[in-house]
Amino acid sequence: MVSFEIFWAPGYACGMNLLPFGRLPAYKPRNFVPQNIDLGDWSQIAPLFDQLETRAAGCKTAAELERWLLDWSELTAALDEESSRRYIAMTCHTDNPDAEKAYLHFVENVEPQLKPRQFALENIYVALPQRRELPQQRFQVFDRDVKNHVELFRPENVPLETEETRLSQQYQKLTGSLTVRFHGEEKTLVQMSRYLEEPDRPLRQEAWELVAKRRLQEAEKFDDIFDRQIKLRQQIARNAGFENYRDYAFRKLGRFDYTPQDCAEFHDAVEKEVMPVVRELQARRRAQLKLEKLRPWDLAVDPLNRPPLKPFAQVDEMVSRTQKIFDRLDGELASGFQQMQQLRLLDLDNRKAKAPGGYQQTLAEARVPFIFMNAVGLQRDVETILHESGHAFHALAAREDDLHAYRGAPIEFCEVASMSMELLGNEFIEEFYPTDKAGARCRATPDAQQRVPTSDANRARRVHLEGVVGVFPWIGTVDAFQHWIYTHPNHTHPERTAAWVELMERFGGDVDWSGHEAARANLWHRQLHVFVVPFYYIEYGIAQLGALQVWSNSKRDKAKALGDYKRALALGGSRPLAELFQAAGCQFEFSAKTIQPIAKMLREELEKL
Ligand SMILES: [Zn+2]
Repeated sequence: MVSFEIFWAPGYACGMNLLPFGRLPAYKPRNFVPQNIDLGDWSQIAPLFDQLETRAAGCKTAAELERWLLDWSELTAALDEESSRRYIAMTCHTDNPDAEKAYLHFVENVEPQLKPRQFALENIYVALPQRRELPQQRFQVFDRDVKNHVELFRPENVPLETEETRLSQQYQKLTGSLTVRFHGEEKTLVQMSRYLEEPDRPLRQEAWELVAKRRLQEAEKFDDIFDRQIKLRQQIARNAGFENYRDYAFRKLGRFDYTPQDCAEFHDAVEKEVMPVVRELQARRRAQLKLEKLRPWDLAVDPLNRPPLKPFAQVDEMVSRTQKIFDRLDGELASGFQQMQQLRLLDLDNRKAKAPGGYQQTLAEARVPFIFMNAVGLQRDVETILHESGHAFHALAAREDDLHAYRGAPIEFCEVASMSMELLGNEFIEEFYPTDKAGARCRATPDAQQRVPTSDANRARRVHLEGVVGVFPWIGTVDAFQHWIYTHPNHTHPERTAAWVELMERFGGDVDWSGHEAARANLWHRQLHVFVVPFYYIEYGIAQLGALQVWSNSKRDKAKALGDYKRALALGGSRPLAELFQAAGCQFEFSAKTIQPIAKMLREELEKL
């Protein structure tokens, strides 16, 4: 049984119960890491790495090597959890200097020492002849990933990567520093985004234009940062023996299961199959807003000028209604969410001294998930709790695996777990909109398309599905742009702009940008991934295709679809991506063959709402 002692670890902010869940026991007793070790003190950690290095040489059989791998895994999990605990404590108490100090201590004094020691163990492992005698099916993915990491390493890339990180920080600093004066007040660009939901059109336009103008003032700086990043990345790729950075990035990101060609097929299929749905949605929006043309500032506002949905007032309500959704969906998942409440693994309310945003973090040794959110009573919060619960179910399902590396899956599949839960959970969204009988709370509008009043539950579903449809073209744009950039590394600025504008033509739909051509040509400056985590974006499109297939399967046979979903989650990261998708009942394929029926389903579902 789990006890609720006050969390205390030596060297940590002493005795303060900063973690809502207190001290959680390890899922399995430690075998290698001493019970009373201070994992914030490098001098206590280093001897464990020494021991592992020495012991590796003595591994004569595959069984001994397996034992060694499990001990290494135990140490990694303990350190991972230590880092998570400190991170969680800090984000839950941003006003507590001890919590901040404890986190920074780990980041500054433990992590930099840790990285080279972990890498040394990876090198030792790859050089061990016994690794070929390990059970193939069991260790194939682990072995492949470690080998890949070791093979890509080049000492001469270390300073280049440091420089790359510095440029990324420069991008983030520049983006974060931008403010505008709006109606006499200084506002950040994030604060300005809420005006795009403003029913007053001239106000929306004013806000949008102000932000666009502000960004354009920095266009040269964004371009300059990117030019230097491209050059560095090209060099990093060449040092590692690759012809271009695209091919290097595919290896670096562990993309063993799909190729640049598959991505190109995804772009084509989105253009051919999804864009017609996007255009239909845009036409509907245009009609509802009674506009001749949609302008860039008309895309986020509620087209019927309704006040925001109010799914709940208190966070307790959000939790109990989410619980009811899971109760109706699946007994096993429902009991997982119940367990998280009992163990106090949810910190969901928006309060002072809490970091912004939301995340799910797994406590790697206790093998339980923790969800952090700042819920304020919006429909977006409901989507977030369903999404993060999907990640949490993944962590719970994969907890039996003793290899730490296998308790997490690649992002392409992690997001299938979470995005599926949004779609499956939305089936029971009436739990949040109980007065929905015959559309009692709905507003009819004189518009012909709206003669049938829309219930709040359906309105929530529609907003969600329109978001799902709308994200595909943007993913296509951002991904195709990066493929072009890194296969044309010597391009000029006008060529780059032309490549981007061509993609905006392909994937932008019917939006009138006239008078704002420069803003359109530089729109990619906004996309953090292009600068900070290159090529990391299509993962969300791949995962969404998986999630939509899980949802589609559930419409035919709910029990089987959920059974497959849970079985796939339980595999963690122990199998290649394609097998994880197959286990979940999905095709791992992203051409028109997969996307066409999905686009058809989306259109049909939207018609019902
Ligand atoms: Zn996610």
